[in-house]
Amino acid sequence: MASLDRPHLYLGGEWATPASTETIAVENPATEEVLAHVPSGTAEDVDRAVAAAKAAFDGWAATPKAERAQVLDRLHTSLTARAGDIAKTVGLELGTPVKVAQRVQAGLPLAVLRGYADLAARETPEETIGNSLVVHEPVGVVGAITPWNYPLHQVVAKVAAALAAGCTVVLKPSELTPLVAFLLFDAAEEAGVPAGVLNLVTGTGPVVGAAIAGHPDVDMVSFTGSTATGKAITHAAADRVAKVALELGGKSANVILEDADVTRAVKVGVGNAFLNSGQTCTAWTRMLVHRDHYDEAVELAAKTAAGYTVGDPFDEGTRLGPLVSAAQRDRVQGFISRASARLVAGGLDAPLPGKGHFVAPTVFADVDPDSELAQEEIFGPVLSIIPFGSDDEAVSIANNSRYGLAGGVWGSDDRALAVARRLRTGAVDVNGGAFNPFAPFGGYKQSGVGRELGEYGLAEFQQVKAIQR
Ligand code: NAD
Repeated sequence: MASLDRPHLYLGGEWATPASTETIAVENPATEEVLAHVPSGTAEDVDRAVAAAKAAFDGWAATPKAERAQVLDRLHTSLTARAGDIAKTVGLELGTPVKVAQRVQAGLPLAVLRGYADLAARETPEETIGNSLVVHEPVGVVGAITPWNYPLHQVVAKVAAALAAGCTVVLKPSELTPLVAFLLFDAAEEAGVPAGVLNLVTGTGPVVGAAIAGHPDVDMVSFTGSTATGKAITHAAADRVAKVALELGGKSANVILEDADVTRAVKVGVGNAFLNSGQTCTAWTRMLVHRDHYDEAVELAAKTAAGYTVGDPFDEGTRLGPLVSAAQRDRVQGFISRASARLVAGGLDAPLPGKGHFVAPTVFADVDPDSELAQEEIFGPVLSIIPFGSDDEAVSIANNSRYGLAGGVWGSDDRALAVARRLRTGAVDVNGGAFNPFAPFGGYKQSGVGRELGEYGLAEFQQVKAIQR
């Protein structure tokens, strides 16, 4: 295989030599082999990137919407031509099984980018309120910092919305999965995104991420990642009162009511909890089941989990790949070893491939809603099942979390909708309602601030001005 090494950063419209010769080794988590090296960027690289983004801002902000939309349209075409490479790259650097990589890791960002190319073109009449003309203007230079679990989707959700709004961007992807971001910049170069509009600095969080978050010329930081890092970024941005948008962790509940289709609710629920090996911020990691169906649900969830094929992400039959890193696997194993609930599937003794950072699909029943298992975001294939006796109790257990990102409710339509309205989360799927990449996405409580995707996501990158006449 040709070397996947990427020795350059993308600054001011060209591939640039980084200030330091230090690199980061990117690992294949299924084989534990080094896949490639990328630059370990520095604060100096961030300075150059921010200067390029600042210099490009006025021109890009003043570019007519139709022209910006054409640039996004060409970017979509160039990125679509790389769909196969995207799925393969994410399969290699993250370990997502090939079918999910094609559908989600490549398909989802392409759909989001298509949506923003269309939104960017839309001319809406300007709003007036009394004697005021209300205008929407781009925020400015955006620092985008992203995690590893949906490494292109999380980048595109920020970059496409920011560009559509007329902002310029400095991106720092996760150091664990930086390779797929390079494909976006190859596409940007081919599509003729104007110089300085989109800049890439790879590197670690404490060096490059912190330099972006604290940079005086970064007008807004858009972050996806852990709640702890989100707090650190908010502190760094507070000194200059820079705008911050945060998409953070979750501990979502899947509520299966008395009158639910239990079989479907459990099967879909297990699939949701284990998607991407459980490394999904919206994962339904707590399954709340009405007592009348509890034993049946536990048995079915255990059986479904045990049926998952764990192994090589490039094998078509694989349902569950590895976790992204040894550190992440150790962290997840720690939660399993400390758990005091009833283990019904998986666990630490289940057979696994000899190499790679694998954890078996694991299900615990009779989980105490206040325990670590039910409160902490594990970010691995670990499902906790909790019984309840009434809708009120289900709502109370579901809302007993410092997070509020997503959730599911299953039952007769009106009853399920009533419960969905009472959940303190940014999104709820009723009876398996499909993920909508154009609906607002974001968290209540410590799951975040602001919204991504669709029109709400675009508005996040705009300021509102009132002009009185
Ligand atoms: P993380 O917070 O460790 O890292 C995220 C990004 O922040 C990486 O690029 C990292 O290099 C950078 N970073 C780390 N320390 C930094 C610092 N001090 N200053 C600036 N940047 C810094 O998170 P992760 O482990 O990569 O991702 C997993 C987490 O992301 C989970 O908690 C998950 O729930 C969350 N997540 C949330 C969403 C959402 O949309 N709400 C989506 C996906 C993942």
